[in-house]
Amino acid sequence: MKKFKINKVDSFEENPTDRQERISWWSQEKLRNAKVMVVGAGAIGNETLKNLALLGVGNIFIVDFDIISTSNLSRTVLFRKNDVGKKKAEIAAERVKELAFNDDIKIDWFHGDLVWDLGTGIYNEMDLVLGCLDNVEARMSINRQCWLIKTPWIDSGMYELGMRVEFYNPPEVPCYQCNLTPNQIANSNKRYSCDYAKLKAFEEDKMPTTQITSAIVSAIQVQEAIKYLCDQEVAFGKKIYFQGKNNDFDILSKRVNDSCNAHASYPEVIDITIDITNTLKDLLLYISDNKLSKELASLDLRGDRTFVKKAYCRTCQSEIKIMRPTFRIDAEEFICANCRNGGHSYSNTDMNLETAKEIQEVFNLENTDEELLNYTLEQLGVPHMQIIAVLSKDNNYKYYKLSDNKILKSIN
Ligand SMILES: [Zn+2]
Ligand SMILES: [Zn+2]
Repeated sequence: MKKFKINKVDSFEENPTDRQERISWWSQEKLRNAKVMVVGAGAIGNETLKNLALLGVGNIFIVDFDIISTSNLSRTVLFRKNDVGKKKAEIAAERVKELAFNDDIKIDWFHGDLVWDLGTGIYNEMDLVLGCLDNVEARMSINRQCWLIKTPWIDSGMYELGMRVEFYNPPEVPCYQCNLTPNQIANSNKRYSCDYAKLKAFEEDKMPTTQITSAIVSAIQVQEAIKYLCDQEVAFGKKIYFQGKNNDFDILSKRVNDSCNAHASYPEVIDITIDITNTLKDLLLYISDNKLSKELASLDLRGDRTFVKKAYCRTCQSEIKIMRPTFRIDAEEFICANCRNGGHSYSNTDMNLETAKEIQEVFNLENTDEELLNYTLEQLGVPHMQIIAVLSKDNNYKYYKLSDNKILKSIN
């Protein structure tokens, strides 16, 4: 019997993206040029990164502050047993590079706290942000920053066999925060004391779920991303919902909350050559020297981050020098060493918080002492590539984007 002769390799079989490029509206070039930030390299993030790499998305930026633990291994396609104890963002970046058929793929990663360490200027450079997170605080942070500079983002979430995907396109409302209850917003602060220092014992709730649910939610998230990047229609501000227990699939409308406070955006952003390794004095001189904000311009961190100069012990009221932003303070530091040795520990109700510390949030050359003027912006708590608000003497705001201080690590 004569066998069919099959050509082993035809030219189309040499193109790794041949099958997807046969889709009528597909643009491999658009995917190759796209800049996508993936926040969270856990269960959903692993699947999302794998999908982006296999689809040929050309520029991927991975953010996570966590390290790999044994309990991650059953849900993370990019991690191996030997990776336990290593940084999630770094290992994910290495594996995505291995997986990608495209040698030109550019992968950056950042090991740090999304809420406090990553400035809005980074979001400004992205075409799309994919949230692969498990907590409301980080989602609110992404949402706010994406609104400030109008970068679209896709949120994802899961619980047991249920999942949801929501695509937000600022300034088109609703936003993510529009549908949060006051209780959810209040609970998003639970890793802090009531004066915003970090609580030592805090641990995020662990989600009951499986690898299958993270694979499904990521597949839908990335499919929406691909459609968007290839200029196809997507449903902004809707919830794509799937409950795997009874195979219930639905698309739900989300409500617009007119009193939501997350819809602000920057009118205009000016690039400057100062970065966070410069001192506060460098920044204030630069801005007045360049006549950008005229004389006596102030760096205004109100509503964003607070710098604590000193505190008064919650037990004996003695003075404690701190000189750090609140998010870098452990709440226990509000008790002096003597009282701590005497067995006292921190409690939110010890004394009036308003009088318990001396803070500064607005900084100019007149109101700031020399010691603080010589602090770097990083020491002051300003994150990498932040867009900072500067208030002029005549009460006008301008927004400046700090330059890149090469904090992002690249995989070559
Ligand atoms: Zn909103
Ligand atoms: Zn004390």
